[in-house]
Amino acid sequence: MKITLNPGREKSLLRRHPWIFASAIKSVDAPSAASGSTVDLLSSEGNFLARASYSPASQIRARVWTFNDEPVDKEFFRKKIRAAIVLRQMSKVESPTNAYRLIHGESDGLPGFVVDQYKDILVLQSTTAGSEFWKESVADLLVEETGIQTIYERSDVDVRELEGLKPVTGILRGTISDLRLTIDEYGLKFQVDIEHGHKTGFYLDQSANRHRVGEFSKDREVLNCFCYTGGFSIHALANRAKSVLSVDSSADALALLEENIALNRVPADRHTSLEGDVFQLLRKFRDENRSFDMIILDPPKFAPTAAHAEKASRAYKDINLLAFKLLRRGGILVTFSCSGGIDAALFQKIVASAALDAGVDAAIIEHLSQGSDHPVSLHFPEGAYLKGLVCVKG
Ligand code: SAH
Repeated sequence: MKITLNPGREKSLLRRHPWIFASAIKSVDAPSAASGSTVDLLSSEGNFLARASYSPASQIRARVWTFNDEPVDKEFFRKKIRAAIVLRQMSKVESPTNAYRLIHGESDGLPGFVVDQYKDILVLQSTTAGSEFWKESVADLLVEETGIQTIYERSDVDVRELEGLKPVTGILRGTISDLRLTIDEYGLKFQVDIEHGHKTGFYLDQSANRHRVGEFSKDREVLNCFCYTGGFSIHALANRAKSVLSVDSSADALALLEENIALNRVPADRHTSLEGDVFQLLRKFRDENRSFDMIILDPPKFAPTAAHAEKASRAYKDINLLAFKLLRRGGILVTFSCSGGIDAALFQKIVASAALDAGVDAAIIEHLSQGSDHPVSLHFPEGAYLKGLVCVKG
């Protein structure tokens, strides 16, 4: 099957960006082709540009598997998976964690596929028609190439709807006796619920940042906002924070946090959990004149795409402004955005304007990003979604 593009619309492909939007397409020679099947992308002059998966229901109508004129078959996916494994071996040589991302979608040349490894279990997420088409082959290949026998599927993300796909979860390969696992992260242990947890169970992209931020926590009174199952909190307690207050709106996440504290034998008497809405609680703390030596803000994705950037900017500014007010002088704000629709420069501007309106001076002492197991293809800048700033209040 062949898709011919409108004149000039080959430009992004020549820059090796992997997405083709519906508006770029002049004609499809077999419009009833199966969802996820492989198509050739041709320039308006009929020249071969790339081989891609076809997503008839989605605005992103095709996603590139290869820019070469080569077969897209099981052996093609084997090559891609091997390359992804080699990249992790390079980047994770000394990392003391046994949970990491093995396949990171477009950045590993595998649009639609996310695979996270938790010890001896893989959790696979398929988000596009193309990944759905190849899912069973990729599952077989993962078993062959990693030697791991067990794969759990967590294809229950909303974006599947845009591709006309229904949510799917459950065991894809092997058997699992317990869907609650314990992983190691820089000497600490965390329980991961791969069945119900967020994403594939754990925010693996923040692993190195949790370790790094922990090192700043000694003797500080820490407020960890959007704490989930306590990642930053437990690293802070292990680094002898004076106290840690953890806030999240999810009771399930906080229940797991309490178990994680017990598991690590960190001083539980220095820790408090609070279930609630961070936007409201920060206001309440401001009204009560509370103050902290360190505040961590790791909110959910406010802007999945650039279309949501304006509203999201207001939300980021709101929490960062309140946090600057609640910080003591010399206090540390660790602030993140995982929104694809807000780039690093815009995020820094938002945090700067929050400081300005809060009437405080602050300096960035460190820029943080997603871990090296979440690579960013140079041709797919959208892959660099996690931005973090460590700021010290003057
Ligand atoms: N820092 C965590 C990940 C945070 S994910 C880690 O390292 O593991 C974002 C968290 O924000 C989720 O746990 C979600 O339950 C919570 N959340 C979302 N909206 C919220 C709100 N308005 N108030 C409090 N928590 C919220």
